[in-house]
Amino acid sequence: MMRWQSGTRRRPVDQVNSLGVYLHIPFCDAKCPYCAFYSLSGIADEYIDAYIEALTRESRHRRALLPAGMRLTSIYMGGGTPSLLSVRQLERLCAMVCDVFRPAGDTEWSVECNPGSIDREKLAVLKASGVNRVSLGAQSLDDDILRILGRRHRVAAVLRAVEDIQAADITNWNMDLIACVPGVGERRWRKVLQQAIALQPAHLSVYALTLDEGRCLPVVTTRRTPATLDDARQLRMLRLTHDRLHAHGYRRYEISNYALHDRRCRHHLDCWSGMDYLGLGAGAVSRVGALRRQNVPDVEAYLAALRRNGDAPHADEWLTLQIRAAERLVFGLRLIEGVAIDFLQRDYALSAGPCDWPQSTLRELQQQGMIWRKGRRIGLTLRGFELADAVALELWP
Ligand code: SF4
Repeated sequence: MMRWQSGTRRRPVDQVNSLGVYLHIPFCDAKCPYCAFYSLSGIADEYIDAYIEALTRESRHRRALLPAGMRLTSIYMGGGTPSLLSVRQLERLCAMVCDVFRPAGDTEWSVECNPGSIDREKLAVLKASGVNRVSLGAQSLDDDILRILGRRHRVAAVLRAVEDIQAADITNWNMDLIACVPGVGERRWRKVLQQAIALQPAHLSVYALTLDEGRCLPVVTTRRTPATLDDARQLRMLRLTHDRLHAHGYRRYEISNYALHDRRCRHHLDCWSGMDYLGLGAGAVSRVGALRRQNVPDVEAYLAALRRNGDAPHADEWLTLQIRAAERLVFGLRLIEGVAIDFLQRDYALSAGPCDWPQSTLRELQQQGMIWRKGRRIGLTLRGFELADAVALELWP
């Protein structure tokens, strides 16, 4: 019998045979000045308990709509700060994930942790539950830079967290770093990279600092530092990052992500490759087939709705073939291996009839040295990676 997604008669989900799951934990110790993610700070324990209860309801509800034999490729618990949860809350959350989604031995299960809120006891709970990857939000290994970023933790807490991760025998771990921080020169950044490499994380995510409109680092106002680095300095910093990491065996596989011994993050890879993913929790986004669902980023509304009817308040959007093809192209281009473009003509022609887009734009980008082409595969050159946002804009229909 064919089943349908909740609230609609438009799409069967029986053909979904593999999927990644994302669980959003929207609580933080304090709000960082540059952060645009949905999260709340200063939250009481009972409130988090109620959120886990609601997340359990939503997980059961949405899992029931998917085929029983569906293969789970990855689980990602992000935030927010999942490691802010107490030992008891983490136990409860992980037990729920095991019960509802039944991860197999080869399912990648990642949890984001922040220095200062992760410890050996929590890591032991995660490991015993089946978590096999930890992502540590270090952001820097320099106390001054952490202060500039408005982070509460210091380098000593990062080093303690790394020791705890190693003691828990979680070998597949990532360290997040923020590059291009205003007021931080190349020598200082080189030192941060060197210290990170010395800790030997299996994976490094290095993001250039971006500030959405209305956000500002405290140092910018007090020391009259420019809000962000100019483009030329950003490029120099990111080139330096690439060269240093490459020299130490970290292979770039996506614009901001590097892995040692090919320990790439399956969850991210699947998202960039256009695989289906289910997002659970307040503010989480899902895309299953042509349906994109955005849960409303409002914990109060989430708790109230889940208490009432077992489904999260959300907005649905049916994606046209053209949008899906463009998304697959733009996300696929984030990967170093590029993307096979057979689907472009097929999907785009289906939705809009014969047309030269985006082939003509791709040809232009190739002439400008932004894109390489090998048979039916295209990808960004090093220059293209550096200007990836501009390339994405060119390719958006
Ligand atoms: S800890 Fe992470 S998610 Fe929370 S406010 Fe800071 S940057 Fe945002």
